[in-house]
Amino acid sequence: MTEDAMETLKQHLKTLQLPYMREVVEREIENAVKMKLTYQAFLTRLVEAEVLQKTNRSIATKIHLARFPRICTLEEFDFSFQPSLHAAEIRELGELGFIHRKENVIFLGPPGVGKTHLAIALGVKACTARLRVAFFTASELADLLYASLADRSTPQKLASLSRYHLLIIDELGYMPMDKQRANLFFQLVSKRYETGSIILTTNMPFDEWDKVFGDTIASAAIIDRLVHHSHIFHIQGHSYRMKDKLKADASA
Ligand code: ADP
Ligand code: MG
Repeated sequence: MTEDAMETLKQHLKTLQLPYMREVVEREIENAVKMKLTYQAFLTRLVEAEVLQKTNRSIATKIHLARFPRICTLEEFDFSFQPSLHAAEIRELGELGFIHRKENVIFLGPPGVGKTHLAIALGVKACTARLRVAFFTASELADLLYASLADRSTPQKLASLSRYHLLIIDELGYMPMDKQRANLFFQLVSKRYETGSIILTTNMPFDEWDKVFGDTIASAAIIDRLVHHSHIFHIQGHSYRMKDKLKADASA
């Protein structure tokens, strides 16, 4: 192949927005000649390279858009430290059937037991399956909805939050909500009810949610919708952050 012909080919690949094929085509042609590949095998390899690159990029974009505070994985989670959790049940969630069935997951427990870690890890898995995911703390979400009241964009905001396959709401309970925020939170949960999954983490047992939402009726209505079709995990035990201290104390 002449240099000019190669340049023209590369230009065409650029026009067609196939940058990765453009990058590897020269090498792949040499390889095909050397390995005596069939036309079909050559073309398949070339196209697959582009598909793989685009898939990886789309996963990276999904992870970026989800705005996780950090990245963690299920594989990094040490189940032996948290015997109140059944590894098999969590790994089953990692298969993502719950998202397709539009079920919720609730992690309840004291600080440091891995609630956020598990929520992010499941979120990352969902991104890998190229689902749309968003991560918020409960107070960020309540503030975001509250701010939408000013320009009357609440319906649009609620609609856009309903388009995610998975909405992660972290740290419910650290900040009590006022009446308006509690009402907006209720609207969000109602809108997603049976239409999209929520993973929620909280340090508050259900019977104290009225303190978070400032009134028993709002809290009962929210719990009702969240808990119906949900997987609830009460994580007991020690904070993982104290792991090394516990070890030191044990050996003292
Ligand atoms: P929580 O949200 O329950 O307060 P985090 O998920 O933030 O706790 O966990 C605190 C820290 O400990 C994080 O860095 C997390 O990755 C780590 N961690 C917690 N539990 C485990 C565990 N069982 N195995 C590995 N790392 C853990
Ligand atoms: Mg947390």
